[in-house]
Amino acid sequence: MSSSSSSEELHKRRLAAVARGVGSTISSYIDHAGGGTLTDVDGREWIDFASGIAVTNVGNAAPRVVEAVRQQVERFTHTCFMVAPYESYVAVCEQLIALTPGAFEKRAALFNSGAEAVENAVKIARHATGRQAVVVFDHAYHGRTNLTMALTAKNMPYKHRFGPFAPEVYRAPMSYPLRDGGLDGAEAARRAIDVIEKQVGADNVAAVLIEPIQGEGGFVVPARGFLPALAAWAKHNGVVFIADEIQTGFARTGSWFACADEGVEPDLITTAKGMGGGLPIAAVTGRAELMDAVHAGGLGGTYGGNPVACAAALAAIETMRELDLAASARHIESVLVPALRSLAETDPGIAEVRGRGAMIAIELVQPGGLEPDPVRTAAVSKACHEAGLLTLTCGTYGNVLRFLPPLVISDEDLGRGIEILRSALS
Ligand SMILES: *Cc1c(COP(=O)(O)O)cnc(C)c1O
Repeated sequence: MSSSSSSEELHKRRLAAVARGVGSTISSYIDHAGGGTLTDVDGREWIDFASGIAVTNVGNAAPRVVEAVRQQVERFTHTCFMVAPYESYVAVCEQLIALTPGAFEKRAALFNSGAEAVENAVKIARHATGRQAVVVFDHAYHGRTNLTMALTAKNMPYKHRFGPFAPEVYRAPMSYPLRDGGLDGAEAARRAIDVIEKQVGADNVAAVLIEPIQGEGGFVVPARGFLPALAAWAKHNGVVFIADEIQTGFARTGSWFACADEGVEPDLITTAKGMGGGLPIAAVTGRAELMDAVHAGGLGGTYGGNPVACAAALAAIETMRELDLAASARHIESVLVPALRSLAETDPGIAEVRGRGAMIAIELVQPGGLEPDPVRTAAVSKACHEAGLLTLTCGTYGNVLRFLPPLVISDEDLGRGIEILRSALS
């Protein structure tokens, strides 16, 4: 159904129909979208530094994805893989096995959302180890379902008054170079491992679950050495090391997966967001002996690995490979980071420019210290929106502006976005 309503009219209808608990960053309603831009129903163009939260890595309405989806819906839309299987599900699992780090034997299983993938990774780790405790980190974000709320750190807006939460979840200190007094990776890992060993006990731990670069928690990049030390500790103690690559995966940080940057080979990897080219699909991929420990029928779901979503995922992966979008992510970093660093030189409110590939952020503070400045962060974000740049904020303290352009964004749109940001900051 094509609509000729304005954003203002649509917003009125929305207020009467859509639950308040579902928020939106902007109140313009989108009509169509391309590589690096969104166009709203009023004909206004937005430069996209959000990618629908790191989903449209291949761009919006990417040609290969559109064609693959169109062909699939004509053949069949759904049979349920648990009832009547089809090739594309198997092919997506084969791709995941080939692309994820680690030369060991692997299996994969498909789901609908990131939270569902995380839930299943925990199910698998518990089942395979016979242990219950799950260790997560400060500033972690893993989703909005009951277990994943428990795994997520931040109260507002994700957890507030939604308890009680799932038990046997323990939080360890994260490596956060800007805010942990400059601990190096090994020291920060030792601090986290101390908490785990003293407060939980290694023998009780089923899994350590971590985002290689934190997403909603503030694009926190742990000090080098932190992830390898945790992975080594997990291996030594029979603990399943799970990398949540839902935001960092699929070329976003300049390689297929962020943990490859330090040669970390997780036992299990959760993926979603970028993998489907905009369609809802998620996965757990990892060591065959863990994945296959679960009895037949123990994993699954009605829609998990839906054929239309699988077709989209295969087309998105092919697009990433063909266009070498990992290289595009590194190129975006090479443009964005120097521009942001030069802004930071004259702006004492920018405490840090950080991130990797096309997952870059600035953390805003009160000049002269590290006191977070969420008020300015919201104001800068709003000024960007008014000038036609779609940006997102994040961080435990709400003081991080994050930039997640589609990996196919043109240099021109990237440059226009940086210019808007520059004036919004001043
Ligand atoms: C978005 C996200 C999730 C949750 O994914 P949904 O598809 O929204 O359920 C989990 N972990 C990380 C790191 C994420 O960025």
